[in-house]
Amino acid sequence: MSNTKENAYEILERVTDGFFALDVNWNFTYVNSAAARLLFRKRDNLVGKNIWSEFPEAIELVFYNHYHRAIREQKPVLFEAYFPPLNMWFEVKAYPSLNGLSVYFQDISDRKLSQTQKDEHYKSLFEQNPDAVYSFDLNGNYLSVNPVMERMFGYTESELLQMSFVPLVSKGDLDRVMEHYKRATEGITQRYQVKTLHKNGTVVYLNVTNMPIIINGKIVGVYGIAKDITDRQLEQDELSKTKERLESFVHNNADAIWVIDLEDRVLEINSSFETMFGYSAESIIGKTLPIVPDFLNDFIQEIHNKVRTGVSVVALETIRECMDGSLIHVSATLSPIVDLKGNVTGITGICRNITSRKKAEETVKIKSKQLESYIENNVDGILIFNRNGDVVHSNKAYETMFGWTGEEIQGVHLYDLGFIPDEILTEVKRFEGKVKQGMVIFGEETIRVRKDGVKVNVILSAAPIHDAQGNLDGWSSTLRDITEWKMSQIMLQNTEKLSVAGQLAAGIAHEIRNPITSIKGFIYLMKNGFGDKEEYFKIMSSECERIEGILSELLILAKPQINKLEQTDIHMLLTQIIVLLKTEAIMNNVEIITEFLKEDLQINCDENQMKQVFINFIKNAIEAMKKGGNLTIQTKKRDEKKLMIQIIDEGGGMSEETISKLGQPFYTTKQKGTGLGFMISKKIIDNHFGEVHIESEVNKGTTIEVIIPLVNEKANLLN
Ligand code: ADP
Ligand code: MG
Repeated sequence: MSNTKENAYEILERVTDGFFALDVNWNFTYVNSAAARLLFRKRDNLVGKNIWSEFPEAIELVFYNHYHRAIREQKPVLFEAYFPPLNMWFEVKAYPSLNGLSVYFQDISDRKLSQTQKDEHYKSLFEQNPDAVYSFDLNGNYLSVNPVMERMFGYTESELLQMSFVPLVSKGDLDRVMEHYKRATEGITQRYQVKTLHKNGTVVYLNVTNMPIIINGKIVGVYGIAKDITDRQLEQDELSKTKERLESFVHNNADAIWVIDLEDRVLEINSSFETMFGYSAESIIGKTLPIVPDFLNDFIQEIHNKVRTGVSVVALETIRECMDGSLIHVSATLSPIVDLKGNVTGITGICRNITSRKKAEETVKIKSKQLESYIENNVDGILIFNRNGDVVHSNKAYETMFGWTGEEIQGVHLYDLGFIPDEILTEVKRFEGKVKQGMVIFGEETIRVRKDGVKVNVILSAAPIHDAQGNLDGWSSTLRDITEWKMSQIMLQNTEKLSVAGQLAAGIAHEIRNPITSIKGFIYLMKNGFGDKEEYFKIMSSECERIEGILSELLILAKPQINKLEQTDIHMLLTQIIVLLKTEAIMNNVEIITEFLKEDLQINCDENQMKQVFINFIKNAIEAMKKGGNLTIQTKKRDEKKLMIQIIDEGGGMSEETISKLGQPFYTTKQKGTGLGFMISKKIIDNHFGEVHIESEVNKGTTIEVIIPLVNEKANLLN
């Protein structure tokens, strides 16, 4: 027996398997050399020691359980196990006996690791695959999914494992996908594209491969790989949309569009081309582009050559010819068509009809030329200011009128022009304010200074200039030199005066002759020693005074104008005139009746001018009373501030026509008349801030009413 045991141990020493024996207390009783080697221990260090104290790590591993089960059930166990402390795999066979346990083990690390590696590879292929990888059972329920699947659809692995693929497929594709699935379960690999839905509703396009899972010759499910092609699909969608948009752009464009090849043959035109030029697509496709007028051929060829080098020509304003031969102005953009290799294969043209714009531009040009000529050749001086009040334009007449050249005043501000006299400054500021508010100044009589310092009477008109938006852009001023006109007015006044003087002279001569005759009589009497000399002298000197009075009044009329306002007693003024006109009245059988207010009435006037007015009105009244009658001169107060003088005659009156023409120069119904009296009188009264009213009835008589402001004593005191 002992021999047998020895032999057995000898055999055990030689086997390559590890072997050790344990007693019922789990102590090593024997360890062969292979076991010592495999366990990296010395045999002597193990024998007699407890296995669980020597290899405590094993307690946590399968070894512990298996060995205990073998002892408990008294049945051998066979297992493979990994032992991490040694990084080794063992195949273990343990045989229990009543004395303990005999354990054989083999290092299977090599085999084991290569298997694990393979598993790892597969696992990694599954887990790390950039595409979704999954498997279904024959009912389409997921059996396994990889992480890409989770990301692709937004469901977790456990959610997916309780689903079939049906909810993931878009409705429209479901039937087709079902068919593919069925074919795959029949053993035929399927490749197809499908539109699927993410958990959040977004669309995911997939390129799917489905193949059967075959185990032991039986199809048990379907294995699938799905590649996300959403980006590619969307890109394609975008591309086809872009193409659609481009086509719609070309087709519906209001501008004419054409495409020609390198030989100028038409490849394509749009409908606007057809309407703009009158050619139908069928009639010109394949033919040379017919819209270039002959006279522009060389020029356009040059342009085409340039485009063929790859350069675009933008907004070229040129002329094109329609089918009916008419020419139109167009703005054209020509661009090269370049293929993928960068070669120019043709030219696209797009053009807009700008004929009406051109015409409008032409009209504007003509209009502004006309305007320019109007301004430049105007007899009135014209200045154009910008909104700041700087001169932007002046005309020739302005230069001649005031002496500054256009260059001298260009850009100069209104107040730096030097043509505004100080006393007019407030007026100019008022006008400027009005114009800037958009108002027009029309025909205002005022004064300006020339470069040489001479004052000029002008009529000023000014009007705002607005830009296209209606905002004030500046204003224009027109200045008419009325210095000469003014002079002629004064001359007219003098003419009238002299004429009146001349007409009065006859009466006056008569008037003077009477006193002279009496004086002569007295001188004769005195020479011959008759009568009371004292008495004669009295009469003679009174007659002389009378002559003197008449003459001095007559001379007033011959005096030059001196526009000077003085406070004047109106009753005295009228009385003096009546002296002058009395003879005239008597000669015409007219009695002058004065009905003056008792109070002292003062007006501010140029005495001479005012006398001229009343002489004229009274003389007109006398002349109207061919058969004689009463001429009443009344003074009344219109109100506190105004005096009213009425000259009431019983003459022939005036017709409507005469009244309407009164005030026009040289309108007279008299043989020796000047037709100036009324006009001048009216003007003088206007200058005195007064009014003239006429009331007249044919064959009844005329009333001329003059209203003049009274001198306000209180106001004077205050001043
Ligand atoms: P003239 O006296 O030189 O004719 P005026 O300008 O003074 O010029 O008057 C113009 C015309 O108006 C007169 O010719 C006359 O026909 C008419 N006229 C003016 N005053 C009277 C009047 N008081 N009664 C009737 N006609 C008048
Ligand atoms: Mg008159």
